[in-house]
Amino acid sequence: MKKIGMLGGMSWESTAVYYQHLNRLARQRLGGLHSADLLLWSFDFAEIERYQSSGDWRGVTGLMIDAAQSLERGGAQCLLICTNTMHKMATEVQASIDIPLLHIADASAPAIKQAAVSNPLLLATRYTMEQDFYKAYLQRRHNIQVMVPDADDRTTVHNIIYEELCRGEILPDSKNKYLDIIIRSGADGVIFGCTEVGLLLSQQDLSVPAFDTTWLHAEAAIDFALQ
Ligand code: GLU
Repeated sequence: MKKIGMLGGMSWESTAVYYQHLNRLARQRLGGLHSADLLLWSFDFAEIERYQSSGDWRGVTGLMIDAAQSLERGGAQCLLICTNTMHKMATEVQASIDIPLLHIADASAPAIKQAAVSNPLLLATRYTMEQDFYKAYLQRRHNIQVMVPDADDRTTVHNIIYEELCRGEILPDSKNKYLDIIIRSGADGVIFGCTEVGLLLSQQDLSVPAFDTTWLHAEAAIDFALQ
């Protein structure tokens, strides 16, 4: 089994889910006492969020690169950036290391394509919904065109992520807000394009297919580690 390097803590609420998924999948595939062979670098998310909200993407890219290189030196054989948003600097991080970065959009695309949805809704941070690094990547590499909520709804989705989900607060009222946004969008699928969204919503809540990037990313990592 290859050693998986994780850049996590963004937030740790979803990194904990990754950790559980990775270990459960390793046990499922290998049986017995097997668990995932991994190294976790967990950031203080308050620090990361300060860089994000002040727009200092250069500064935070430097932190990501230092951490990725440390994981590689520690023996990691692949890298997971355990957040969709921080794939904004995936190209720079990949260029700084010799191990493969398993991109969260590459991990998620096959399930989206297989479900043959034509206009999935992307629920994510403002950065992921409004900037091009993620939507354009899906379009260019996988021919997947996503829709995003309107401006007011994007604010609601973003604020619930930072003010609640990343702080471990899972509120029924916020779940209803997300469901309302999904229904009003008319989308025929929903991409949980933020690794915390699965803390609030699940496939059971929805009448259209859901694509949980946390789960799909962890699965791709285990496929890679065991191949
Ligand atoms: N975990 C989130 C994501 O998948 C948001 C937190 C962050 O900015 O990294 O985008």
